[in-house]
Order: sequence, then C-alpha cells, then structure tokens
Amino acid sequence: MLQTVRGMRVVLPAENRRFRFVENAVRRVLHQYAYEEVQLPLIEATELFSRGVGEATDIVEKEMYVMQDRDGDSLALRPEGTAGCVRALEEAGLLYNQVQRVFYTGPMFRYERPQKGRYRQFTQIGAEAFGFAGPDVDAELLDLTARCWRELGVADHITLELNTLGSRESRLAFREALVNFLSPHKAELDADSQRRLTTNPMRILDSKVPKTRDILAGAPELPQFVDHESRVHFDGLQQLLSDLGIPFLQNPALVRGLDYYTHTVFEWVTDRLGAQGTVCAGGRYDGLVETLGGRATPAAGFGMGLERVMLLHEVLYPDALAVEQSADLYLCIQDPSLQEATARIANQLRDGLPTLRVRSGLGAGKLKAQFKKADASGARWAVVIGVDEMARGTVTVKPLRAGDGEQLELTVPALIEHVARASGLAPVSASGSTGVRARSNHPLNRNT
Ligand code: ATP
Ligand code: MG
Repeated sequence: MLQTVRGMRVVLPAENRRFRFVENAVRRVLHQYAYEEVQLPLIEATELFSRGVGEATDIVEKEMYVMQDRDGDSLALRPEGTAGCVRALEEAGLLYNQVQRVFYTGPMFRYERPQKGRYRQFTQIGAEAFGFAGPDVDAELLDLTARCWRELGVADHITLELNTLGSRESRLAFREALVNFLSPHKAELDADSQRRLTTNPMRILDSKVPKTRDILAGAPELPQFVDHESRVHFDGLQQLLSDLGIPFLQNPALVRGLDYYTHTVFEWVTDRLGAQGTVCAGGRYDGLVETLGGRATPAAGFGMGLERVMLLHEVLYPDALAVEQSADLYLCIQDPSLQEATARIANQLRDGLPTLRVRSGLGAGKLKAQFKKADASGARWAVVIGVDEMARGTVTVKPLRAGDGEQLELTVPALIEHVARASGLAPVSASGSTGVRARSNHPLNRNT
C-alpha cells in the first residue's frame, strides 16, 4: 500500500471534529471583530516569497516547495499567507489610501523535519489589517487572539511575548552592532550561525546551540537601538494592552524569522506542547507592501497554527468532542420494497429536524440486525418503516434509551413534533421554508 507523503496531513473524522471546533471558534471571533475572509491561491510565484519573506530566511532558504511550471516559471507552494495576501489586495487596488481587515485560512507547506506540532503541510488562520499606523490595531489583533483563547478555554496556558524591532533604520544599526560584536567570535559559532553572520545576523539570536548562546550572552541588545518613534509606538501598545487586561512579557530576544517585520512583533506561547510551543505569531510589517511593489501602507497581522491550537485543546480536554453517537434517528426498513419510501421519509425528517442526524439502514437485511445497528449508532430512536404501517400512512418509533417512553405509531409530522419536543428543539414548519428556527447546542453545529 502506498503511504502518505512524509509530513503531509490526513485528518480523520475523530480528529477533524476537534479541528473544526477550533477553526469555527476562531472564525466566530474574527467575525465579531468584523474581519472578512479572502481566499488566496496555494501556488504563487517563487519570487513573491524570496522578495516578500526574505532571501536569507529559513523559509526561503530551505523550507520552500519549489517547482517548475510547464512553461518554465518557478512556482512555490505557499509557505505562509501574508505575502500572497498583500499581493492579492494590492493587485485589486484595495490597499492604497484605504483600511482593510481580512483573514484567510488553509494549508501552508514547509519542508522541515516533521514531529509533533510540526508538519510539512499545516494549517494557518491568518489575519491582516492594512492602513492603520498606530498601536491600536496591534492591540486589536492581540485582543482578538486573546478572545480566541478564552473561547477555546485555553487562555490559562498561553502567554503573550512581545518585542519591538524598531524602524528599518534602527534594525540596521542593531544588525551592524551585532555583526561587529560577533565577528571576532566567528570561529566559535555553529555552522548555521557562521553563515547567517553575513546573510541574516539577527537570526543568530534564535540559535539553540549552547556555545553560540554563551557568546550571545554578552551581545548588544535590540532595545538599546530602538528609535524614539518606535519606542512611543511600543509604549502606546503596552498601555493599550494593560487597559484591555491582556498580560504580556517583554522578550527582547524575540526577533521572528521573517524579514518583513518592523516595530511590534509577538508570539503566543504555551509550555504544554514541548518544543513546538508557539501557537500564534505576528507583528507589524509596514515595509512589506512597498517591498512587493505597492505604495507604502502600514500593516499588521498574525498567523495562527491551527494544528498546534488543536493539540493544546486536546492536551487540556482529551475527552471533549469524543462523540459516541453517529446518529440521532435510525431508520430500519422492514422490506426491500420500502426503500424508496424510506428515502423520502428520511428527507422529511431532515427537513423537519435540520439539526439532527438521520441515518438509514441501507441494504435492509433482517429487522433484528438493523435494530442492533441502530443501537450501536447511539441513536435515541429507531424508526421502523413497515409494510402495514405504510399502508396506514404511519411509522413506528421505538425509543432506544431508557426514560424515552413507549413505542408509538405516528404519522411523520407527528413524529417530527414528538422528537422535537423530546430534544428541546422547535421543529421547522412542514413547508420547510422558514429555515432553521432552533440550533442544537452541539459545538459542531455552532457556526459563524
Ligand atoms: P517555528 O519557530 O515553530 O518554526 P515559525 O516562526 O516558523 O514557527 P510562523 O512563520 O510565524 O512560524 O507561522 C505562524 C504559526 O504557524 C506558528 O506560530 C505556528 O503555530 C504555525 N507553524 C509554523 N510552522 C509550522 C509547521 N511546520 N507545522 C505546524 N505549525 C506550524
Ligand atoms: Mg519555522
């Protein structure tokens, strides 16, 4: 049997329930903040990322899936969403002199070493806000993510780390000081850091190699280089976060791996997932629109790793969403000649009880075997479609759980009333045209 390509994701139904639960919660919150969804391509010109994300970043240097189109163009599976989002909105003329709040979701691809919480195909929900220069939008994005954590019940296990990279100029000054400091130690640095000394020295600060870390202990620190304007921006953000009651830690070593950030950078981190503890990361990237050929536009955003959020939810609530039931109503067919009638009745039930799950014992077989399957499905009622009942225009409903009363013979509309009452639902009128009047409280039925 052929196997799934290493690092690519299959999400089976049991896991998918949790995945959609998490995704829907985040979507509901984005909706509350009036962010609108954009759908973006999975394939982009490779150049978008080498220019946008940065030639010397891990993503572009060693993590991209690059291929040649049949006409020779170099294309890449998107490793992140921000560059493509900027390109798409700029192309549509939606950025210059306007404000936009958008989000997107879907798979991203990076060639890295797969492990728990790190895959070659993973899912991000990204949100981006354009046209806002002040720290208020940085705060809004953080407030939005904080609300997501509360919605999901994971807030107590995630902390916010915050830093400012300053303006482009202050970053360059810091970079120069860092290179001057590290150059005399070059021979003692690990191989990756030696290379980065010329390509992307700020990434050396991320190194996990102990020897390199020792040397870094005496290195100049970014905050000393941050210009006045960035300082004011950063102080403003911290004040807003305090007002909003969002706790944070200042982490001067937080630099992020992408070239496009300026001013604010942040990560939401948990200690419950081992090494893959960053569940959401982002910041301000005022220079990106211009870098990609548009007119300068202030921008800020984040990317949330849905698999990691889902893993955290699973660690904290291992039993939640473990659905034992696969149906609410199970239709048993007495005779193969009734299959057509059964399909029709099943649809009447779906029209009248739109939040319930209706399953038919397809393929018929002996009634006794069908009752067994009905019971195993976890359904609350078996509905028997029988020859005699059909002739009378009724069905027999057999409660499968204790306390649900006696077996009854009912017309289909009466059955709908009966089940709706027992489930605490308001049935949809017979015409079916009034739409859903009641929603089940099951988390999977809650949507934006
Ligand atoms: P890391 O340091 O863990 O590699 P990153 O800085 O490369 O993360 P970003 O580019 O900021 O990650 O992406 C935003 C979020 O997407 C991350 O915080 C993380 O939650 C998630 N993410 C990134 N790479 C992966 C991956 N390979 N598998 C699963 N989730 C990922
Ligand atoms: Mg990475």
